[in-house]
Amino acid sequence: TIGANFLRTATRFPDRDALVDMPSGRRWSYAALNNDVDALARGLLAVGVGKGDRLGIWAPNVPEWVLIQYATAKLGVILVNVNPSYRAHELKYAVQQSGMRMIVALPQFAGSEYQAMIEQVRPDCPELTEAVYIGTPSWDALVAGGKAVASDAVERAMAELGTDEPINIQYTSGTTGYPKGATLSHHNILNNGYFVTETIGFTEADRLCVPVPFYHCFGMVMANLGASTHGAAIVIPAASFNAAATLQAVQSEHCTALYGVPTMFIAELNLPDFATYDLSSLRTGIMAGSPCPVEVMKRTMTEMHMEGVSIAYGMTETSPVSMQTLMDDDVAHRTETVGRVHPHLEVKIVDPATGLTVPRGTPGEFCTRGYSVMLGYWNDPEKTAAAIDPARWMHTGDLAVMLEDGYTNIVGRIKDMVIRGGENLYPREIEEFLYQHPDIADVQVIGVPDEKYGEELCAWILMKPGTEPLDQAAVAAFCEGHLSRHKVPRYVLVVDDFPMTVTGKVRKMDMRERTVEILG
Ligand code: ATP
Ligand code: MG
Repeated sequence: TIGANFLRTATRFPDRDALVDMPSGRRWSYAALNNDVDALARGLLAVGVGKGDRLGIWAPNVPEWVLIQYATAKLGVILVNVNPSYRAHELKYAVQQSGMRMIVALPQFAGSEYQAMIEQVRPDCPELTEAVYIGTPSWDALVAGGKAVASDAVERAMAELGTDEPINIQYTSGTTGYPKGATLSHHNILNNGYFVTETIGFTEADRLCVPVPFYHCFGMVMANLGASTHGAAIVIPAASFNAAATLQAVQSEHCTALYGVPTMFIAELNLPDFATYDLSSLRTGIMAGSPCPVEVMKRTMTEMHMEGVSIAYGMTETSPVSMQTLMDDDVAHRTETVGRVHPHLEVKIVDPATGLTVPRGTPGEFCTRGYSVMLGYWNDPEKTAAAIDPARWMHTGDLAVMLEDGYTNIVGRIKDMVIRGGENLYPREIEEFLYQHPDIADVQVIGVPDEKYGEELCAWILMKPGTEPLDQAAVAAFCEGHLSRHKVPRYVLVVDDFPMTVTGKVRKMDMRERTVEILG
């Protein structure tokens, strides 16, 4: 189980750094973290929270998030990660849908009045009997209450747990709609966390900088479990993403690894004072979550010293990672593909219409099967059955091409594919090409409704600082001779930012709506 694995690391590497919080300057060794986790777990037992109960955590990246993650794991309490961008009505839904018994939250953060929203929904949520606020007397009281509980109570609770039991309801990013609650077991996420960092050669000497949210599997599995399964340290640069704070943390904590979604690496690389940070301690890291532009991968390898940076592909429902590049793959495979299948998993690419496996080199829906596939969506057999077929294959909704040698390209989501005049267009390919323009910092391509062709392409462009905005004619001229005519965006919008999820993903759904409004 996750708790037993954590205890093993704390016993093997008691004096190693486990957790460093840059904003507060607090730090924990594995022995200290394990002590605090146990104290908190006893506090939970004291208020009657135990195996199978749902406990929500609603906070950005603060160290208490990690304490809660391991304390609940040791007791078999099912952790429900609540999206930091939720508002009261969404919170109410999550509390009711998961049957949440207790919630732990930061009282407020960056304009989010978490405590006020919790108090507002409590009258409608009688099952929610405990609310505890991080950094307030209620947190201290929770921990202090544990002193009355027998010192071996946590160990005894841990002994009762089975590896296939649910331990986490983890919500998806909400990129394509309402976040869905994937129910995951110890076996699901502990193994995946282990394999993800095994792939990038983690040992207890590694120090991982984590700007990605703990709320999401990238943070809580790939970072936290990825580190604790190897005795490596977690460094929190800031409670929510901040490019400068991230590079500052890498420099001052001598981080060896850095995680991020592509938009985070783009923001870091484009900092005006980028060249002043000493990033020479970095050796590896992971870029994942959305398509990773080749240019950005190459710049992380050279300018950020992350020679061993790896691309991972996966989804919350599969714990999350199923494909990953290896550090010793050649540069072309490491920048242009998402690598090959992870150990112990199966993958197939199917024609979504027939369900039959397509030949290598042909796009189809990516499906995976094995230990990583979630137990299901919490209390939602219908959605579960739509995603996982009777043979336990997870249908991802992503389009992929598997090459002869097993390396795979993700060409995009089925929902984002553009059909223009009967022809399938993959935004990813056009985005990759436009990235090569020297003045473009970031670009997203979407389909918008069109009377003649059904859909037309629109490019949203973020310009690099100090450059002239590009118009449609300039973009078309740049594409001339390189992209076939029907792939040249018909509309170009230069913008200051993209609509994003808290996990740093672009919400193309919102972009499509806004484009229709703008174009009239
Ligand atoms: P929702 O399911 O709520 O709409 P989401 O799919 O973004 O949101 P996640 O589980 O966080 O929620 O993300 C998984 C998805 O992210 C994958 O299905 C895929 O579309 C995309 N993705 C992840 N890694 C990569 C990658 N390396 N390259 C391209 N796409 C990726
Ligand atoms: Mg999804």
